[in-house]
Amino acid sequence: MRLEDIAISLYKFLDLIIVTLVGLMIFFNIPSYLIELPYHISLFLLLGILILPIALVWLLLVIAASRYKIVKPSSETIRKTLKLGTEIGELDIFYLKAYMIPSSVVQLPLILLIFIVKMPSTIAKIALIFTCVLLLPLLTPLLSKVLVNPTRSLLLERIFREEFKYKVNFVGLINSNIINAHVIESPIYKGVYVTKASLDLDKNNILCLLAHELYHLKKHNTYLLTTTTLLLISLIYVILSYSLSMQLLTKRQVVGLIIPIFYFSIKFFPLMLMRIFEQKADIFAARIVGHDRYINFLKLLKRYSVSLPITINTHPPIEKRIKRVIMDKRQMS
Ligand SMILES: [Zn+2]
Repeated sequence: MRLEDIAISLYKFLDLIIVTLVGLMIFFNIPSYLIELPYHISLFLLLGILILPIALVWLLLVIAASRYKIVKPSSETIRKTLKLGTEIGELDIFYLKAYMIPSSVVQLPLILLIFIVKMPSTIAKIALIFTCVLLLPLLTPLLSKVLVNPTRSLLLERIFREEFKYKVNFVGLINSNIINAHVIESPIYKGVYVTKASLDLDKNNILCLLAHELYHLKKHNTYLLTTTTLLLISLIYVILSYSLSMQLLTKRQVVGLIIPIFYFSIKFFPLMLMRIFEQKADIFAARIVGHDRYINFLKLLKRYSVSLPITINTHPPIEKRIKRVIMDKRQMS
């Protein structure tokens, strides 16, 4: 692995590293060890522990950059970089509103239920947890739509209806110059977000983009992801709550563990699972629109793709996606 790859992958997980460090600091009660020290020194040390990973990653990135030819940035490249930065920031905010906040909101009642609510029997509690795991994710698409508040695209909604004979509750446009689409659905409410840049595609390519999303809709991928995540997370929380009642862990230690687990579960876990569905969505779409047309679409995406924001990069590298579609085409013929 090259140095810049290491630096970039560390950079991608920087927020998780920091959240984990905060969790560990609470778990091991590090501030209490520092209390003996003068206040400003302990504060300095604590900040140091948090800033260290950021500094280290930046140092690695700088070393990696200096090993390769550095082109002196012109005002044009700076302008472009800044523009790209704003765009990526916009997509990150979109992802926060569309996925992360709704997933946090549906997870909070479970935390309350598991750690705070007292129930007459364990079976009643387990039944209630299961009900919440199945019912709460039904709310995420609605919550997501309210938070993002996208402009509806009647044109794209009609394409779903007429070309695929499939009814979606909304297709919303989001501000971005990157070609991309995202599904948020539950069996009772189905939504698709499409970036505004995707509207510049010709009809064939729009069909390719939407056919891929059609798979996620038909197979209830986001609902499945949310319920699986909630189920797994509830199990971990139940174990933590049991350890708390058995006095294997203290309240502080449980809080220290919940922080990184919660963050991981709303940010990374669904994305990791999503990758499993991506390949299937590509094959499904290619078989609907035709393999060659779909391969051309992926090639076009590759030409216009920029390094996507870390938070929403659910798709595997495009080269891999193209290869798999070519393999499927060979198998079919
Ligand atoms: Zn997809």
